[in-house]
Amino acid sequence: MSHASSAFIAALPKVELHLHLETSLRLRRLLGRGGAAPPLERPHLIADPALFVGYDRLRRLRYASRAGLIPDAAYTPANIAAITAELLEEAAAQGVRYVEIRVGGRRAFSLLGVRGMLEAMAEGARAAAVGVRYGVIITLVRERGPEEAERLVEEAVRGRDAFVVGVDLAGDEENYQPAMFASAIGRARDAGLGVTVHAGEFTGPAGIWTAVYQLGATRIGHGIRAVDDPILLDRLRDRRVTLELCPTSNVRLGLVGGLAGHPLRRLMAAGVPVTLNSDDPVLLGVTLARELATTARVLELDEPVLVELMAAAARAAFQPADVRDALEAEVRAASLPAPGGGAATRGPRISRPP
Ligand SMILES: [Zn+2]
Repeated sequence: MSHASSAFIAALPKVELHLHLETSLRLRRLLGRGGAAPPLERPHLIADPALFVGYDRLRRLRYASRAGLIPDAAYTPANIAAITAELLEEAAAQGVRYVEIRVGGRRAFSLLGVRGMLEAMAEGARAAAVGVRYGVIITLVRERGPEEAERLVEEAVRGRDAFVVGVDLAGDEENYQPAMFASAIGRARDAGLGVTVHAGEFTGPAGIWTAVYQLGATRIGHGIRAVDDPILLDRLRDRRVTLELCPTSNVRLGLVGGLAGHPLRRLMAAGVPVTLNSDDPVLLGVTLARELATTARVLELDEPVLVELMAAAARAAFQPADVRDALEAEVRAASLPAPGGGAATRGPRISRPP
């Protein structure tokens, strides 16, 4: 079986739903470019990541990547605008038409406020002017408890005029049960925000069941462990709950043995809506385009499968139906034969936000 060509992947209009802004990592990189990267503060903590598994490994990787604390003074609106512009430029370069950017992080929110972050991001998008439409997802961190989640949800609801489209529950899946966040997430849902939950990543299918049935999540971050539960797979398929898969992230965190053992194909075969995403591009050294190329090669995904992955992302975007439909049409246009042979690379463009 052949896999999709790199030319096809480059030309495919893309939609990415699971992408963290990685505020501190990108700020560190930005400071480094100016020659002012903070020195490593506690290098002894940067042990071999292979010594750790799961969420511990994620924490180690994050620490290692931003070691040397970012000074509070770096959290300026101008710097947030700069890293947002950079993210959107990277997206445009890969042919991304729509991206949902997750922002969380106590320091960014406490230093700038949620509103300050959103305005700085909007400024960055205006400056980048690359024609990539975006939505913002506010990340609620489990370890920070339900009170903070409720406060952030109120800010998220007020931020709908600044491109907020949803909330995300992230963090330590094992020790912080979804029930604690039912009230906060319910409020977000009632206000019309989309709900996605990191679940079935570090722990088993139970977290996915509760995310869907207790929190009303219509999307699951990762959710790879659904593959262990055939009844859950049926429910996800029937309810059109979409999985935001990030294969390189799973491999780097030691959650799957290698890319060849990733359950992406099994999840697709079960009829579950599946999307492909980069998760933390700076931390993991990936991009969506590279993720598509690597996954296509190792898992032998052909061109129609890649179109399906991007179309599933378009359908699950936290956007009104007309926007989702236009995005999906644009993705599907790529699979139509173009005059003169080869796949079409141009579809109806979606205008950038005002
Ligand atoms: Zn994530």
